[in-house]
Amino acid sequence: MPACGCNARGKNDYICGMDNPLLIPSGLPFGAPRFDLIRPEHWLPAFRAAIAAGKAEADAVAANPEPPTFANTVEALELAGSALDRVSGLFFNLLEAESDDAMQQMAEEVSPLLTEYEMYVSLNEALFARVKAVYDGRSALSLDPDQKKLLEETYKGFTRSGALLSPEDKKTYAALEEELSLLALRYGKNVLDATNAFSLEITDEAELEGLPPYVRDAAAQAAREKGRNGWLFDLTHPSYGPFLQFSARADLRERLWRAYNGRALGGPYDNRDICLRITDLRRRIAQLLGYADWAAYELEERMAKDIGAVRRLLDRLMGPSLPAARREVAELLAYAQERGYGEPQMQPWDFAYWSERYRAEHFALSEEQLKPYFRLEDSIAAVFGLATRLYGVQFVPREDLPVYHPDVRVYDVQDGDGRHLALFYADFFPRSGKRGGAWMTNFRELAVRGGVEERPLVSIVTNFSKPTPEAPSLLTHDELTTLLHEFGHALHGMLAEGRYPSLTGTNVARDFVELPSQLMENWGFEPAWLHTFARHWQTGEPIPDALVERLVAARNYHAAYFQVRQLRFGLLDLAWHTLREEADVPAQELEREALADCAVLPDIPGSCISTAFHHIFDGGYSAGYYSYKWAEVLEADAFSLFREKGIFSREVAAAFRENVLSKGGSEDEALLYRRFRGHDPDPDALLRKLEIK
Ligand SMILES: [Zn+2]
Repeated sequence: MPACGCNARGKNDYICGMDNPLLIPSGLPFGAPRFDLIRPEHWLPAFRAAIAAGKAEADAVAANPEPPTFANTVEALELAGSALDRVSGLFFNLLEAESDDAMQQMAEEVSPLLTEYEMYVSLNEALFARVKAVYDGRSALSLDPDQKKLLEETYKGFTRSGALLSPEDKKTYAALEEELSLLALRYGKNVLDATNAFSLEITDEAELEGLPPYVRDAAAQAAREKGRNGWLFDLTHPSYGPFLQFSARADLRERLWRAYNGRALGGPYDNRDICLRITDLRRRIAQLLGYADWAAYELEERMAKDIGAVRRLLDRLMGPSLPAARREVAELLAYAQERGYGEPQMQPWDFAYWSERYRAEHFALSEEQLKPYFRLEDSIAAVFGLATRLYGVQFVPREDLPVYHPDVRVYDVQDGDGRHLALFYADFFPRSGKRGGAWMTNFRELAVRGGVEERPLVSIVTNFSKPTPEAPSLLTHDELTTLLHEFGHALHGMLAEGRYPSLTGTNVARDFVELPSQLMENWGFEPAWLHTFARHWQTGEPIPDALVERLVAARNYHAAYFQVRQLRFGLLDLAWHTLREEADVPAQELEREALADCAVLPDIPGSCISTAFHHIFDGGYSAGYYSYKWAEVLEADAFSLFREKGIFSREVAAAFRENVLSKGGSEDEALLYRRFRGHDPDPDALLRKLEIK
C-alpha cells in the first residue's frame, strides 16, 4: 500500500493523498482508472505528490550503498516515477480529449514542474555514475536482449544530454539548448503571425466560381466572425487547400499560393536567418556531443541508423518517381490545355485545380456515394472481426467500467485463450473540449512491477460525425482508413509483451512506429474485406463492385507526383541537417541547391519552403522527415507478404505479432523487421504498390 504521499501546499492542500483517486489503487478490475471519481481539484496535489515520490525513488537509486548492478540501478530507474506516469498518462490524454480552460491552466502550472523533475533526474551525477558503471561493465553481464536495450537507452539518455561533457562544455551545451528552444519558439510564432497576416476578402459572388457550397459556407462564416461582409479566405489548411483545389479563378489562386509560399520570407516575420541559426545551433550541439552533424545525432535513435541508409532509400524511390511525376504533370498540362489553359508550363497554383478536375472526370467518387455503406457500428465490428480473424483476439464490452465521457466505450481485449490483454477505450465523436483529428494513446503502459504484470490501457480518439435521430454515424472512406490506422497503433499497444514500459507497445523508433498503423490501412482497399461488412444502411444492399473498383483505381492517382513532393521535403531536411560547418549561403540559396535536380513544377522566385517548414524547424521531425516514406516502404513490403499468402493469413499475422507487434522497442527494430519479413525493407515494394515504373 502506498503511504499518503500528499505534500501539497497552497490552495488544494486540504486534499489528502489517501482520498485522491489518482494516488490510490483503483480497486476496479484491471486497475481501470476511476474516471467516475476524479475531480478537477485532484490533479495538482496528485502531480505534486507523484513528483515528490519520483524524486525520492531516483534519490534512493542514486544513494544505494550496494555496488551498482543492472537490477538496482538501470531497472530500478526504469520503474521509478510510476505514480507520475500514472497521473501524467491520464492528465495529458484528457487534456486532448476532454478539456476545459481550467485543465489548460493546470497544464501550464504542471509543465515547469515536470521539466524541473526531468532535469532533477537527468542532471543527477551520482545517478549517472552508477548507470555508467553498469554500462562500462556490460560485456561481463549476461543480459536478455530487452535488458541490453534498456541499458543502452538509459545510458544514451544521459550522454545524449551531455552527461559526459566537461563542466565547461556542459555550460556551453545548456546555453546552446536554451538559445535553440527560444529560436524554435520564435520560428513557430513567425509562421503563425505570417499566416494570420494574410486574408483574401471576396465581396463579388462571381469570384467564388468553382467553389463547392461547403467551402463558400465556411468562408462566409469566417467573414461574419471578423465582422465583415462576403467571404473570407486565409492561409490555414481548411481554407487554403480547398480554394486551390476548386477555385476557377487562376488569378486568385495565384495570389493565395504566393502568399502561402512566401510566408515568413522577408517582412516583419522573416525566418530566413532563423533557419540558418537553428540548424547551426543543432550542428554545434551535435558536434559538441561527438557526432559529425545533427543528422548523425538524430539517426542514432532510429531504425535507419545512418544517413547512408536514408539516402539509399530516398534515391531508390526518387529514381523512377521523378520521370513518372514529370509525365503525370505533362499529361495534366495537355488535359488542361485542351480545356483552354493558356500557360506553357503547369504553374504550381494551377496543379491542384486541374488535378481535381481530372480526378472528378475520371474517378468520380463522392463521399456521399460511399458513406451509406460505412455505418460506424458495422465498421467497428468489422475492424474487431479483422483482428479476431488475424490474431485471434476478442473484444468484450465492459459497460460497468467508468469512462470520462458518456460517448466513450470500453472493451476487455482477450487473447484466443481468454487471457486478458488490455482495456481498449474508444472515443469516436467530436465535442467541445476535444481537439480535432484522430490519435491513439495509452493511459498506462505495459509494465512488470515486483513480479506483477500490469497490462496496458489503450485508447483511440477520433472525430467521426455523431448519429442523429434520422441517421446512424456514417464514415467517409477516409474516416474508415483513419479508424484502421489508429486501430493498427492500438494493436501495437494491446498485443504488447515485455516488462519495461519504455520499451513496450508503441515506444519504438520514430521511423518504425507507423508500420502497424499504415499496414492496417491496406485492408480498407481490399474488396474481400470490404464485402464482409459494407452494406447500405437503409437498403441492406452490399457495396457495388463498381464503387470498390473505382476506390481502388483512385488510390494511386498522381502517386508519383505526391511521392516526389514528400521526397523533396526529405531531401531539404537532410540538406539542412547534414551541414558540418556554418552555412555560407542564404537560406533560399541552400534550399534551391538542395532541390534543383528534382523539380517537377517551375521554381517561383519569392517562394520558399524552409521559412514555414514546422516539421523540421520547430516540430519533432528534424532529420526525420524521411520517416514518412520509410514507414510506407515498411508497410508496403510487409503487406506484400499478406498479398502473397492471403490477406487473412493467420500464419503471416502470427509472424507479425510475434516479431513486431508484441516486441515494442525491446530490440533493434531493423532486426525485428528482418525476423518478420526475412529481408530488409524493400523500397521496390512501395514502387510496385504505387504502380510507379
Ligand atoms: Zn499514426
